[in-house]
Amino acid sequence: MKIVVTGGAGYIGSIATAELIQAGHDVIVFDNLYQGHRHAVHPNATFIEGDLSQKEDLARLFTEHSGIDGIMHFASYTLVGESMKQPMKYLRENLVNATNLIEQAVASGVNRFILSSTANLFGNPRRNPIDEEEPIEPGAPYGDSKFFIERVLHWYAQIYGLKYACMRYFNAAGGTPQRGEDHDPETHLIPLVLQVALEQREQITVFGNDYATRDGTCVRDYIHVVDLAQAHILAMEALEDLGSRAYNLGNGDGFTVLEVIETARQVTGHPIPTTIGSRRPGDPATLVASSQRIRQELGWKPRYAGLHDIIGSAWEWHRNHPHGYHSHASDV
Ligand code: UDP
Repeated sequence: MKIVVTGGAGYIGSIATAELIQAGHDVIVFDNLYQGHRHAVHPNATFIEGDLSQKEDLARLFTEHSGIDGIMHFASYTLVGESMKQPMKYLRENLVNATNLIEQAVASGVNRFILSSTANLFGNPRRNPIDEEEPIEPGAPYGDSKFFIERVLHWYAQIYGLKYACMRYFNAAGGTPQRGEDHDPETHLIPLVLQVALEQREQITVFGNDYATRDGTCVRDYIHVVDLAQAHILAMEALEDLGSRAYNLGNGDGFTVLEVIETARQVTGHPIPTTIGSRRPGDPATLVASSQRIRQELGWKPRYAGLHDIIGSAWEWHRNHPHGYHSHASDV
């Protein structure tokens, strides 16, 4: 297939690109390099520096490249905490960028679309693990921005026959030897903890220890990026037969913030000092996925089911790229 990957210079998009190329697909990466890194883009991908807010950039993408089979849309603002401080960056920009893309893609005859959606759709889940029947009540403007896009896709499916899958993933983590997490500023738990182990930061602040969980800190379901990428590829390949769907994607095991830190101590051998801070607005206490649907329908099975392996793969990348993509370029 010929696939457009928006955000293909970002953390998850660059790894999805590499996995697609390894599986024999052609990939066009479309990224404005605002958050992404040119060196993260697989050398065999076609790279277009473009912005989804600029309709001319999108017109260039779809006129210069014909025969596009599908789109994987990763490009997005993705921070729950930031979305509570700058809601319009999310509610407006994530939505406008996605609608520009969907509109031009469908007008150009592309009829398959995979959306990076989120567990933040379930801001106050009735039960964990969370399956696809759980009512949607986004926990933050970030989650609602993704929900709006899911609704746009719903109507484009009804009206134009678009086939789509919404991949609602829980906490993406881990890396490959060539690619990993490199955000500026970094806000995610695992890379921050590993920066402490690299002595780039003195300690990690735990955001709240008064939640109703086993040790009072938030419980999350960490899923390896390569497993996420594989789920996107399986969904793209199955859209024709199965039609549009939503999938919750996680390992099905929840770990508290303190358990993540303890595992990182075991992986790195560093004591990783911690301090307890206040809760971060927008954070639900517990988010654990039931991924039964994608396991049954697509035969998806995570390769990295254990937290130790996930953090180990992140540690390998961070240790070899202590300054992220500024350390040195990826080769494959
Ligand atoms: N977290 C924390 N300290 C940090 C960063 C994150 O305690 O410096 C917590 C955060 O409150 C959440 C979990 O770690 O419960 C995972 O947060 P992250 O930002 O990695 O992912 P999110 O759950 O927001 O997608």
